[in-house]
Amino acid sequence: MTDVEQQATPASSQWFERARAVSPGGVNSPVRAFRAVGGTPRFMVSAEGSWLTDADDTTYLDLVGSWGPMLLGHAHPQVISAVQDVAARGTSFGTPSLPEVELAEEIVARAPVESVRLVSSGTEATMSAIRLARGFTGRNRIVKFAGCYHGHVDALLAEAGSGLVTLGIPGTPGVPEHVTADVIVLPYNDTAAVTEAFERYGDEIACLVTEAAAGNMGVVAPDPGFNAFLARTCREHGALFVSDEVMTGFRLSRAGHWGIEGAKEGWRPDLLTFGKVMGGGFPAAAFGGRRDVMDHLAPSGPVYQAGTLSGNPVATTAGLTTLRLADDAVYRSIDEWSAEARRLVSDALDEAGVPHVVQEVGSMFSILWGTTTRARSFADVQAQEAWRYGPFFHAMLEAGIYLPPSAYESWFVSAAHDDQGLSRMASALPAAARAAAA
Ligand code: PLP
Repeated sequence: MTDVEQQATPASSQWFERARAVSPGGVNSPVRAFRAVGGTPRFMVSAEGSWLTDADDTTYLDLVGSWGPMLLGHAHPQVISAVQDVAARGTSFGTPSLPEVELAEEIVARAPVESVRLVSSGTEATMSAIRLARGFTGRNRIVKFAGCYHGHVDALLAEAGSGLVTLGIPGTPGVPEHVTADVIVLPYNDTAAVTEAFERYGDEIACLVTEAAAGNMGVVAPDPGFNAFLARTCREHGALFVSDEVMTGFRLSRAGHWGIEGAKEGWRPDLLTFGKVMGGGFPAAAFGGRRDVMDHLAPSGPVYQAGTLSGNPVATTAGLTTLRLADDAVYRSIDEWSAEARRLVSDALDEAGVPHVVQEVGSMFSILWGTTTRARSFADVQAQEAWRYGPFFHAMLEAGIYLPPSAYESWFVSAAHDDQGLSRMASALPAAARAAAA
């Protein structure tokens, strides 16, 4: 047990030892390892609604939601029953199947895409989208923003957020320089930098890829009109505008972040990427957009992309069932719970005298520590007093609340979060806020 931890975790500790013996760092995705906050990662054995239970039989209010997918909460009875039903009829055919068509139809009905290709992870979706953009335009350069994470795609790891910023890794060994040579990294929300890059390289840029709203450097909302400006700039230069909605898609509204912004302002990305919610807790993701662009994909066109488990019937059934249940009432309840939770957190931090900003976009939020100035870029986020997060995180964990083990990640709410969860938050927060003040 480390000095940051009081809770008895003998079973998790034992499993962590076993995991470390057979896996690098004892985990299958870096941020799960608690490196940034210290202590023993909890090994979960079950989950229901908004609650997680670990191997030591401790129950936590879950504000990670599997990093976004669990829009309806864990083990939703209708999702579980649909999955059991379809799995009993075979788990993978390697042929076209029915639920993948229905899931694609549901995505096309909600999001501004005419055609979609299903894949198995958000990483695959963005990797394939930039290949398609390069194949379609015949150009090589890509523009991305510092602090935006698009999965562990070689070319897109330059100044990426998520685990890289949590662990303080600026880029990563193993990505040759020539792979990132064509990637232009700009500050988020900086229209002048975008204009300058396009003036200089406009006819060489295949696409600009951005998170629809940044959630991987903590939450950083796009300035009003920023995405519309990006869409316009790309169009003027014949580049494709790729909006990464892996995190925000079908979470912030029926049509993701685009539904609360682009749909109202009258612009559309050329390509979008999705993941997380659309898989209902299973590995399913997608990219889609303009039909003329998507028709460049094999077998319709020359750009190759494929996957043994793409459109897997179990994963697509979980996603389809989730999306069909995600009606206006679901989004309303998530928005309301999130607003109440944000108010509780902010009041407790004010009470303890901790300067902070609650950074939010729709129901997604994170806390910026030690400042009262809203962050608009990765540089702003990096200037915060992130050291306050570790003690806060552990005080919350101790009180039975599971937050992301990093200051640079969004908190996620589900439709299963209820008053019991808010009461647990209300009783945990005063001590946690005092821990952050120390
Ligand atoms: N794009 C965004 C915006 C993400 O947040 C993530 C994952 O967090 C990804 C892409 C990569 O998705 P996956 O982890 O499924 O590969």
